[in-house]
Amino acid sequence: MAEKQATHGSSNRLTLYICIAIVLAIVLAVGWPHKAVQLKVGGEIFLSVLKMLVVPLVMASVMSGILGLGDVRKLGRPGLLTIVYYLSTTLMAVFVGLVLVSVLRPGDVQIDADTLATSMKAGAEKAEMAADKGVSSIFENLIRMFFTDNLFRAALEMDLLPLIVFSIVFAGLLTVMGERASALAEIITQVFDALIAFVLVVMRLAPLGIFCLVAARFGEANAQDQLGNVLKQTGWYSLTVVLGLAIHGLGTLPLIYWIVRRENPYRFLANMAQPLLTAFSTASSSATLPVTMEAAVVRGGVSKRASEFVLPLGATVNMDGTALYEAVAAIFIAQVVGVDMSLFELVVVALTATLAAIGAAGIPEAGLFTMIIVLKTVDLPVAYVGLLLPVDWLLDRFRTAVNVFGDTVGAAVVDDSFSRD
Ligand code: ASP
Repeated sequence: MAEKQATHGSSNRLTLYICIAIVLAIVLAVGWPHKAVQLKVGGEIFLSVLKMLVVPLVMASVMSGILGLGDVRKLGRPGLLTIVYYLSTTLMAVFVGLVLVSVLRPGDVQIDADTLATSMKAGAEKAEMAADKGVSSIFENLIRMFFTDNLFRAALEMDLLPLIVFSIVFAGLLTVMGERASALAEIITQVFDALIAFVLVVMRLAPLGIFCLVAARFGEANAQDQLGNVLKQTGWYSLTVVLGLAIHGLGTLPLIYWIVRRENPYRFLANMAQPLLTAFSTASSSATLPVTMEAAVVRGGVSKRASEFVLPLGATVNMDGTALYEAVAAIFIAQVVGVDMSLFELVVVALTATLAAIGAAGIPEAGLFTMIIVLKTVDLPVAYVGLLLPVDWLLDRFRTAVNVFGDTVGAAVVDDSFSRD
């Protein structure tokens, strides 16, 4: 008991240090942008250390989860519940986004011709880079994402889904082998525990790492005046996205948590502060994954079994924040262009935004690329994504935090189905 309190105490202190680090970093970036940019190396080192842990952690965690279940078939019910949770919450997020963007109509503002011309040029370049992501291939791409012809390349590219598939099958076979594989099974579980301890060590550096990351990125934006003119013109759009994310993150998800667990969801949110702040600072669900796992298991009261399986999968496929943003952005562009969407088109946007979010990787600004699929589906001019570029780096941070929170709530919500089995 005393030990647990001490752990909580030091963890609360760490959360406070991280908050202070973020505030100081923003002050530095606003006052002395050129100095702030020089901290980039520090941020990159912290990010590298986190990313270094992702692949071994994902593999060890999924395998250890299956080994804990003892039989891969037991994954059936919780697995199904997890997928239902992912899909339904993502659709709810999209719905919130669609309602807000239709009511607030951020795209009705006048955008000056100069801004529009430069934005379209930048947008056209982006769209070209994502040109092969046509609508027809959307399902094909989603299915392909689960497979690889080379496990090492998947690891190299931090392509987590094929690694998860491999880990499920491999650990499933270990459970079938029983006694013959017991030593290996034990090693895998110990590797996972050691990796979580590793994350705890890394987190001691988090205030410093996060300070550098935030200072450098905000400093860069300030130095390039990225927040100036265009933020004014797309300010309503940004506000709509942030408001939608707040409703989903502070309303919908806590409500689901409370309905299922009958516990205070905001206490859970506070316990998840470290992964949420890390998500905000890194803009990457995948890089945040080690912190998310550690927090869910150690402080969130989520069973190891649920976290081990739900969080790695969630980091790659469950992106409520991204889906909400994609839907808002698509309708915003339609409003700028002056196209009125029919109800049918809104439904198409909702579905493609959900699929596009599933397809987005857990890396910075991945959602911007997959959004091109949404725009193409409803025949909107893709070059208009250029309008969103100057603010995307900032909105990305908020949506990544919501993505990560959605994962942790998911682990907590399906937790029971794991233990009962
Ligand atoms: N950066 C987001 C994430 O890692 C993905 C995106 O929306 O761009 O979760």
